[in-house]
Amino acid sequence: MAGNVIRIGNVELVSLSDGNGDREPTFVFPDSTNEIWQSEFSGLLDDAGHLHPRYGSVVARSGGKTILVDTGLQGPEGMLLRDLAAKGIDRNAIDIVVMTHLHPDHVGWNLTGGKPNFPNARYLVPRSDWEYWKQPQVLSQSDHVVEQVVPLEGMDLMDLIDGDYNITDELATVNTPGHTPGHISLVISSAGERGYILGDVAHNPAQAHYTDWNPVFDIQPETARSTRHAVLDHLEAEGITVSAGHFPDPGFGKFVRQGGRRVWQGL
Ligand SMILES: [Zn+2]
Repeated sequence: MAGNVIRIGNVELVSLSDGNGDREPTFVFPDSTNEIWQSEFSGLLDDAGHLHPRYGSVVARSGGKTILVDTGLQGPEGMLLRDLAAKGIDRNAIDIVVMTHLHPDHVGWNLTGGKPNFPNARYLVPRSDWEYWKQPQVLSQSDHVVEQVVPLEGMDLMDLIDGDYNITDELATVNTPGHTPGHISLVISSAGERGYILGDVAHNPAQAHYTDWNPVFDIQPETARSTRHAVLDHLEAEGITVSAGHFPDPGFGKFVRQGGRRVWQGL
């Protein structure tokens, strides 16, 4: 157990949580079966056979900047702001907020009551996701974007970013489309060490082996599947340390090969 803080070269990562969901695994992954979950992944299930995906965020300290990746859901039990405070991170000291994509569980604490929770930060939004969600027929059904993203533009706090954007010298974004059209992940390269902030390229450790399983939330399933294969193959082959927001707390680990199959090995 690595605890909530790891280092990749000179970059410090702090794992944060906004709480956990409660889902039936075959709802999340329609291609999966309860038999497989019970026989191979019982440790990920509660007594009722449900998954409890974490709403995870991560803070990266890099190049003198404090960068928050994703802002949770802000549901009734949401705890991200409390978790930040408990881990000694002042939300006024966040310089940059990066959203991996514009789903409700990744933008939830951008604002509360119309006021930014990270008032001194620039909020970075993937341009392709912004263009997807601002289409009138999509936006009219996406209250979370209306409430948590659109106001940032009016307050001049939002910057649209394209793929391969350098946040610092050792932290950059990379396009990993499919879960959403503009989904991004983050690549860390510092002092000879490498790390990867996954976003929703994968939702559950079971996808280490069952990489074909698309969560029901993937907007472009075929693209998401090929992205997932390419990214997980790369992370496994290179032995890169991963931060996975929906994986069990704290979400740090590696994809490794054991007994002929790929597994998630938490730190
Ligand atoms: Zn998500």
